[in-house]
Amino acid sequence: MGKALFRSRTWFVTLEVSYVNISLCACAKWVKQLACCRRSEHESKSVRPRCLGEACAMVNALTFDVEEYFCYSYPGDNLNCEEWQDFESRVVPHTLETLKILEYHNVRATFFVLGWVCRRDPFLIREICDRGHEIGSHGYAHRMVFTQKPREFRDDVKCSVDLIGEITGEMPRGYRAPSFSINGDCLWALDILAELGFHYDTSIFPVAMRHYGPPEMERKPHRRENGLWEFPGATIDIAGLRFPFGGGGYLRLYPFPITHWAIHRMNAAGRPVMIYLHPWELDPNPPLQPRGLLHRFQHTVNLAKTRPRLLHLCSEFSFAPIGEVLACFEGEAERPVSQVGHK
Ligand SMILES: [Zn+2]
Repeated sequence: MGKALFRSRTWFVTLEVSYVNISLCACAKWVKQLACCRRSEHESKSVRPRCLGEACAMVNALTFDVEEYFCYSYPGDNLNCEEWQDFESRVVPHTLETLKILEYHNVRATFFVLGWVCRRDPFLIREICDRGHEIGSHGYAHRMVFTQKPREFRDDVKCSVDLIGEITGEMPRGYRAPSFSINGDCLWALDILAELGFHYDTSIFPVAMRHYGPPEMERKPHRRENGLWEFPGATIDIAGLRFPFGGGGYLRLYPFPITHWAIHRMNAAGRPVMIYLHPWELDPNPPLQPRGLLHRFQHTVNLAKTRPRLLHLCSEFSFAPIGEVLACFEGEAERPVSQVGHK
């Protein structure tokens, strides 16, 4: 509990520091982009897909974790999946709205679907698949990986894989852990994913904050010694500090020009960015959830900004499912990365 509280406080302090550092170091550069972004964010509802030059040179990965608004996991603050049936389901309309937005912008993405949702709403998974998107696994019961034993983790993932296989006729090629919860304490999970036949994982935020890590890990997509590809969460270095960005609470909480600038900066450095969202984030007024104040804040802050920001991203940047973005790297891979610490 004490450790969780410490991490929670660290999370808030880190965010505060990030605002200060970012403001001081990049103010001048952002003045021009700020005006552009604000205008675009407001205009995005009527903007058709377009190319803005440099951003089109790099194809980024767009991903969604398909789960209910109440399928959350935080250390010391989580609901077991046995309790989920008591809540109102909203995943179907939220996901259909997401599909509609992507169709309008002619963008395809990767949808990491929760096994519990597959069992309850198989037609929704089929609909995502039929519209040409990639289906990945988000596990079954949304349990943080570092809280599980290897056997439990294997059973949870295998259950979701079997459900997806029954619905789509294919095994998912990619996996994302709940809350990016594969860290330095449970890298054994990557070997289990390789044994289960996964082609790639995207469950690691290589940054020293919250439950993330390991921070030394390679930040570009790379292949590990066991053959599994890893597509890390997006991070940006500012004033000697590293910050996660590009999705979920970070996309909603950071001023949008920060995300916009960070994507351009990473793309200019030859790195694709992985954007991740949840269909429930399109709902500005979710039902009240029984969770701690901090986690309620993380889960609900700026929900009304998700939709215009997603529209802006789809309008300006090029996106593809993770599997297709990784294909560009597979030809470039010289040798597998065996351990963390390679830059
Ligand atoms: Zn999730």
